[in-house]
Amino acid sequence: MRNQAAGAVIANDMSLPSLPFRPAALIPPAQDRRLLVSIHDVSPAFTAPVEALAARLRTLLDGPRFAMLVVPNHWGRAPIAGDAAFARRLRGWADEGIEMFLHGWLHRDDSRHDGAAAAFKARHMTAGEGEFLGLSAAEAERRLRDGRDIVEQAIGRPVAGFIAPAWLYGEGAHQALAATGFTLAEDHWRVWRPHTGETVTRGPVITWASRSPARTASSLAVAGVARTARRMVPVVRLAVHPGDMTKTAIVASIARTVRALAEVRQVVRYADLDREMRGEPDRKAA
Ligand SMILES: [Zn+2]
Repeated sequence: MRNQAAGAVIANDMSLPSLPFRPAALIPPAQDRRLLVSIHDVSPAFTAPVEALAARLRTLLDGPRFAMLVVPNHWGRAPIAGDAAFARRLRGWADEGIEMFLHGWLHRDDSRHDGAAAAFKARHMTAGEGEFLGLSAAEAERRLRDGRDIVEQAIGRPVAGFIAPAWLYGEGAHQALAATGFTLAEDHWRVWRPHTGETVTRGPVITWASRSPARTASSLAVAGVARTARRMVPVVRLAVHPGDMTKTAIVASIARTVRALAEVRQVVRYADLDREMRGEPDRKAA
């Protein structure tokens, strides 16, 4: 099975010279290639699929070397505050070494967007889940502080950072992030330190879409390209969602892609990457 997957990747690699550029010039040396993996939308609303994804990733990555993005009250129907059983589960995951990020508050976009372009973007690009796109700075700050309190109370340690639903940040969200002291944030193209604005790294996020057959097909194609070009760009992020577990083609694609990328990249945590980029030594290794 494993050899078959590797064979497919090598066959694809052989088609690369037909690209209109020299791939070798874009390939960083092995020691500079990193992979970050995360499970989005961790909430009592999706306990079973999150458990299933976590079990698969532990196996594929040889340990709990991934992050979880926690939603404090998904769609206003799944509050973590007051859910002692789910809080214990979160604490267990954090104790294992899984990095915990705050991921919105409701994960639903209730804002009224000014302008046709913003309204279109909010509705069609995010399925109405771009919660932090249209918030005022004051409202974004309230949700960031309240959400962080709830997650940190559950896990008994600081969160690793904040990642907005659908990776969408409006002006208010950026202002609020700078004011609230979160260590890290990320969007589609980069990871940065909100308190200073410094970029930690740039690179794509590979993700899968389960919402419609067309979106699923295109996400499977993107994952295929990522496997073919698995040595390109220094840092690649992979994001999986509870809905991915509903489609066997996505589950299989995730496994193939994680395996192919982890084979040629060092799997790291966000905090490790941040430390590395600052030039600080690994305290565990010291
Ligand atoms: Zn999400």
